[in-house]
Amino acid sequence: MPSKGPKESSAPSTGRGTERGRDGENGAYDAEAVRAKYLAERDKRLVPGRADIRDLRTDEHFTWYRDDPFTPYREREPVADEVDVVVLGGGIAGILAGAGLRKAGIERIRIVDQAGGIGGTWYWNRYPGVMCDVESYIYIPMLEELGYIPERRYAWGEEILSCLEAIAERFDLTRDALFHTGVTRAAWDEDAARWRLTTDRGDHITTKWYVLAPGILNLMKLPVIPGMEDFAGHSFHTARWDYAYTGGGAHQPLSRLSDKVVALIGTGASGIQCLPPLAESAEHVYVFQRTPSAIGVRGNRATDPELGGRLVPGWQRERMDNFQAIMLGRPVDVDEIDDGWTHHYAAVHHPPRTEGMTVAELMRSGEQLDYSIMEEHRHRVEELVTDPATAEILKPYYRYLCKRPCFHDEYLSAFNHPNVTLVDCPAGIERVTKKGPVVDGRQYEVDCIVYGTGFEPELTPLFRRVGHEIVGRGGITLAKKWGPGAASLFGMMSRGFPNMIVMPAPGQQAVVTVNYTQLAVLGGEFVGRMVGLLAERGIEIFDVSAEAETSWTRSTKRPACA
Ligand SMILES: Cc1cc2nc3c(=O)[nH]c(=O)nc-3n(C[C@H](O)[C@H](O)[C@H](O)COP(=O)(O)OP(=O)(O)OC[C@H]3O[C@@H](n4cnc5c(N)ncnc54)[C@H](O)[C@@H]3O)c2cc1C
Repeated sequence: MPSKGPKESSAPSTGRGTERGRDGENGAYDAEAVRAKYLAERDKRLVPGRADIRDLRTDEHFTWYRDDPFTPYREREPVADEVDVVVLGGGIAGILAGAGLRKAGIERIRIVDQAGGIGGTWYWNRYPGVMCDVESYIYIPMLEELGYIPERRYAWGEEILSCLEAIAERFDLTRDALFHTGVTRAAWDEDAARWRLTTDRGDHITTKWYVLAPGILNLMKLPVIPGMEDFAGHSFHTARWDYAYTGGGAHQPLSRLSDKVVALIGTGASGIQCLPPLAESAEHVYVFQRTPSAIGVRGNRATDPELGGRLVPGWQRERMDNFQAIMLGRPVDVDEIDDGWTHHYAAVHHPPRTEGMTVAELMRSGEQLDYSIMEEHRHRVEELVTDPATAEILKPYYRYLCKRPCFHDEYLSAFNHPNVTLVDCPAGIERVTKKGPVVDGRQYEVDCIVYGTGFEPELTPLFRRVGHEIVGRGGITLAKKWGPGAASLFGMMSRGFPNMIVMPAPGQQAVVTVNYTQLAVLGGEFVGRMVGLLAERGIEIFDVSAEAETSWTRSTKRPACA
C-alpha cells in the first residue's frame, strides 16, 4: 500500500514516563527546588536595558546592516502604472498569494520587495548552516505541484530558496516584480477605488488590490551594547552574511577566516546553526551566550530515494494536517513527522489530563512533564560536551517554552573543538571596545563580530513590520486604528481599508501554526479565491462590515479557559 507521506524513524522521547524526569537523577522531583533554580537563573538575566534594541531603520551607525550583500543594486527609471494586485513581499506568503491569484486568473500581479529577488527569509538568511527547523516535506510549499522531494529531512536554505524561485517561475510572478524596492506609503483613493503606492525608488503604482506579506521575522534585531559602534574590526548580522569577508559559501569552508578570531553573539536558532561551520573555519570562535537554548535532537538525514514512488496525491496536505493535529493535541493514528516538535512541543502544550483532575493537579503534572523534558535536554548537554564547566553553562534552566526550542545534531559538540570558547554572560555583554566585546572586565580581542541576534519578535505589530504608512478611508492610518490592538476579520482584513488583505500571521488575530507554511498556504488560497470571486461578480470595492469585524475581534479575545 502506498505511504501517505515520508516516514521517518527515531525521534526524541515525549518525556512522559522518563524516570530521570519524574524522579530526577539524584532523588525525587522537588518542585520547590526546581522553581527556585529556574527563578535564580531568571534573576541573573533581569538587568535593566538588557532587552533594548537598536532600530535598524533609523540607527545612524548601523542602517547599512540592512544592505543587500547578495545582488548588486541596479539603477532604474521610476515606474508609474496600474496593476490588478500589488503583493508586498516576495517570501513564502507573497509567493503563495501570487500563486493563488494566478490560479484565479488575475493578470497583472506585482510583487514589490526590498530584497534583490524572490524568497524573503530565504533570500536574506544565507548564513552557513541555515536550514528549516520544521520538516522540509511540510515546510517547503507546493512540493506536489513542483514534483519535487527535498534532499534531506530538514532542508538547507539554498534548497528552500530554489524551490521558492521555482514556484515564482511556474506562476510567472517575477515578470512585473520590482525588487530592491521598498514601499514607503500606501493610501486608499476612494474616488478611484484604488490604492496609490509610493516607493523609495520614486515609483507611483496604482492598484486595485493590496496584499500585505511583509514577513513575521523580517526586522533584524540588534541589541544595544555600549560602545558597539566603536568596534574597529568587521561586523555583520547573520541575516546579511558577508561572504566577501568570510570567504566560502553556504557549504564551502569559510576560507578567509582561517587566521581570524570571531565573536559570535547570540545562541538562538541562527547562532546555533552557524556555529559548526564557523568552528570548522575560523582560527578561534568566542560564543557569547546570555541564555542557552534548549537543543533537541534534530535527526537530520538524507531522504529515502524510494520515497517519491511511495507517495500518493494529496500527501503533502495530509502530512501538514497530521502535524497540525498533533500540535493541537488531537488524536492521530500515526505521528507522520515524529520529531522534537511532535514529541516535546506538543506534549508540553497538551499535558496528559485524566478524568476528574483538578486544575492544580493538571498544572503540577504539566510542570513535572516540562521538567522531565528539560532534564532530557540537560542530560544531552552532559553527554555531548566533554568539558563539564562548559556543559554546565550550556544547560537550559527554564520551562520548555520560555525560549523557542532549537534542534541540532552538531551544535553542542562544536564546543569540544579547541578553537571554540563559550563566554557566559547572562546579564549581557558589558561593552564593546574597538578591540571587541568585554565581559566581566575581560577584553576579548576579535577580528570580526557576527551578530546572531535574530529578529524582532513575530508579535511585533503589523504596522511596524510593514515599515510604511498605510492610510485607509477618511485618512485613518492602520497604525492609529490598530494602535490599541488589532481589529480585523480573520486577522486578514480590517474595516476602513478596502481591497486590502493581510496574509495571516501571529499577533494580528489570525491563527498561529508551528509550521508557518501551512498558514501561508491557506492564506494564499483565500486571497486567490476571494479576489477571483469578487472579480467574477464585478465587485469593485470590498470592505468588512462592522458586525463581522466586531464579532471576529471579540472571538479572539475569549478567555483561554472559557
Ligand atoms: C532563518 C529562519 C528560519 C526559519 N525557519 C522556519 C521553519 O523551519 N519553519 C517555520 O514555520 N518558520 C520558519 N521561519 C519563520 C519564517 O519567517 C517563515 O517561515 C517564512 O519564511 C516567512 O515568510 P513570509 O513570506 O511571511 O515573510 P518573509 O520571508 O520575511 O518575506 C517578507 C518580505 O517582505 C519584504 N518587505 C517587508 N516590508 C517591505 C516593504 N515596506 N517594502 C518592500 N518589501 C518589504 C521583506 O524584504 C521580505 O523579503 C524561519 C525564519 C528564519 C529567519
